[in-house]
Parts: sequence; C-alpha cells; structure tokens
Amino acid sequence: MIYKGQSKYKDKPITEHFRVGEIVCHDGSSEYIINSKALEGLEKLREIIKKPIIINSGYRTVSYNKRCGGSPKSQHLVGNAIDFHVKGMSTEDIYHIMKTHNMIGKEFKGIGLYNTFVHVDVRPNPNRRGYSFWDMRK
Ligand SMILES: [Zn+2]
Repeated sequence: MIYKGQSKYKDKPITEHFRVGEIVCHDGSSEYIINSKALEGLEKLREIIKKPIIINSGYRTVSYNKRCGGSPKSQHLVGNAIDFHVKGMSTEDIYHIMKTHNMIGKEFKGIGLYNTFVHVDVRPNPNRRGYSFWDMRK
C-alpha cells in the first residue's frame, strides 16, 4: 500500500515502530509518499534482530535526489526505498541476517550495501532473479 501524506505530522505512526518523521524527504518538503511494504519488511527485520532500525533516508523528491547524487530512477522517488543502519551492526551483519531469513527477493527486491548503511527497496519489477543486489562498500 502506498501512503501519501503531509510531512508535518511527524509523530504519526505508519507501522508499529516507524513514524512519518523518519521517512519524509530531508529537504523539508510538505508531502511524502511511502510504500508500507518497505516498512513492513523492516518491522520483520527488527523483530529478528531485536534492535531499533535507524532510517537514514526514505522518500526523496526529485530535486533532493539530484542534490544528493541519487540515481535518476531511484526507488526513493516513488517511496519504495529506505536506507537504514543499526547501531553496533555492520552492513555485512545486516545483510547476513536478511539472507539467513530469506528476506532477499521476498520482502526486499533491491538490496544495496554501503559502508555505513543498507539500502532496501520493494521495486515492483525486479529482474528474473527476483531481486537486485549491489555492494558499494569501499
Ligand atoms: Zn537508498
């Protein structure tokens, strides 16, 4: 389900542990869109790791995405993607847990590893393998 709403309702919950203020665009724009499936996947991950998931970036407007060097076809533009980290866990640790629990290709159709965060998305048209994976760690 795609939620559309006003960014000013920061404390409004979208799923059990995630609120509007965590996924809105960092440019202060007044509206957001988010696919609840992305957050539901993170709820499941949270349940497994029993630690809070800290969202770095959720929805992005076209102009903000350009400014932060995002891909022009970024899933963040349509509310399908979230970048996050977990205190005390490396992105490798997080990836392993997602893999062990068969979340790759199921809850998440796009997974990207970076030095300090993990990107997940729920793109509607995954490739034949069922997911895309990239490793941008240096
Ligand atoms: Zn991302």
